[in-house]
Amino acid sequence: MAPTPERRDAALLAAGDPAAGDPAADPPAVVDVAVVGAGAAGLLAAACAAGRGRRVALLEKNRRPGLKVLISGGGRCNLTTTLAGARLEQQYGTERGRWLRHALRSFPPAALCALVESLGVPLQEEDLDKIFPVSGRAQDVLDAVVRHAVEQGAQLCLGAPVVQVARESTGGFVVQTARGACRAASVVLATGGLSYPKTGATGDGYGFAAALGHGLVEPVPALAPLRVDAPWLTALQGVVLDAELTLLGPDRRPLVTRRRPTLITHKGLSGPAPMDVSGHVEEHHGGCTLRLDLAPDCPPEALDAELVDGARSEGRRLVQHRLPRELPERLRVALCAQAGVAELTLAALRKDARRRLVELVKGLELRVDASLGFGAAEVTRGGIPLAEVDARTMASKRTPGLFLCGELLDVDGPIGGFNFQAAFATGRLAGLHA
Ligand SMILES: Cc1cc2nc3c(=O)[nH]c(=O)nc-3n(C[C@H](O)[C@H](O)[C@H](O)COP(=O)(O)OP(=O)(O)OC[C@H]3O[C@@H](n4cnc5c(N)ncnc54)[C@H](O)[C@@H]3O)c2cc1C
Repeated sequence: MAPTPERRDAALLAAGDPAAGDPAADPPAVVDVAVVGAGAAGLLAAACAAGRGRRVALLEKNRRPGLKVLISGGGRCNLTTTLAGARLEQQYGTERGRWLRHALRSFPPAALCALVESLGVPLQEEDLDKIFPVSGRAQDVLDAVVRHAVEQGAQLCLGAPVVQVARESTGGFVVQTARGACRAASVVLATGGLSYPKTGATGDGYGFAAALGHGLVEPVPALAPLRVDAPWLTALQGVVLDAELTLLGPDRRPLVTRRRPTLITHKGLSGPAPMDVSGHVEEHHGGCTLRLDLAPDCPPEALDAELVDGARSEGRRLVQHRLPRELPERLRVALCAQAGVAELTLAALRKDARRRLVELVKGLELRVDASLGFGAAEVTRGGIPLAEVDARTMASKRTPGLFLCGELLDVDGPIGGFNFQAAFATGRLAGLHA
């Protein structure tokens, strides 16, 4: 049996145990650029800054860099996407996509792929425009980008949590770590958000940025499974649906629609479609309704006609046999029970019950108040306000010499490689200008 996502991540994290790993290293006393956080954004920022001949310290609290890269895509790393231009930008929403335009156009997915392949990791396209390493090993991507940063000349200091970033009156910064201080002319904050805190992302960067004059858009979990309080549904755990999901806000206005696989779990709904809508649920602090079209390829009239026809041609069979074949049998049985037609024959199905059943299949409504939270979220929505950061350089508009990039910023994308793409593209710009 395939391991649950939680077990799989735990196994991957154990392989990259942050407390184990490489020896801790003291930071150098003085550098040109201190990069805080060796995730996707920080690794590329450090490589690019070092590649320009800057003396770079890459300060990482864990004794292993890039734990999120390691566990990404179920250990396979969905590095990026084949989408480009306007279609790529739209994935981040209108305003944030526009803000990201320069980063994405100067380092589009094709450039990220070219870089990673040049580092010896062949890539391939898979379903839904996703790019993965051919080896299917996130570790290969991680090893390559870490090696790249080090070969470019960045000094990787592991086990060196940064506790304070202070600006000196003479210009420049003192970056205080648990292993000593590091003076730097520029600082790149690449500390990630709050999602999956066991990887090291515990929101430290928000405090560092606040001390240097930045605000914060309330961080909420995104790309997390949804909690649904419907025992009849969660009893179907393990069932996979090809449903179209529409999330309605507290005022019942449609917020987002997704048609991608949905997995019923013992806590609610997981898989790409529910995870993609979870950030909206959290932004609204719950009170949302999830409407599921369980048979998106079958119009309601056709479904109704099918049941009418069934009553004529095979009236003695149970109603569930005439529901769309693509619905798993356990779900068909449960839907009939929900519609109050369990154990009913097609011939005995009255018009009002038939309508109820069609409505359930085409528009099952579930109340959703929350996701499973930051512990299970793949990304953080919210963060450092984009208006406070120069979109062409990632420079802070509040503090000269400070740069911010990656998930720390108020930008996030859906499942599909969009979050790494944004992290690498913004990290690169920070490294080119810090
Ligand atoms: C389970 C899971 C699967 C995912 N799969 C994918 C995927 O397949 N494709 C995709 O595009 N995205 C995926 N994501 C999202 C993606 O991993 C993140 O958006 C991306 O890694 C963000 O990169 P980052 O460098 O900004 O932040 P992070 O990767 O979070 O890196 C931040 C780093 O900063 C360090 N740090 C934090 N505070 C301090 C401090 N005080 N001092 C020193 N260091 C500090 C942390 O330890 C960490 O190493 C996934 C996320 C998760 C959790």
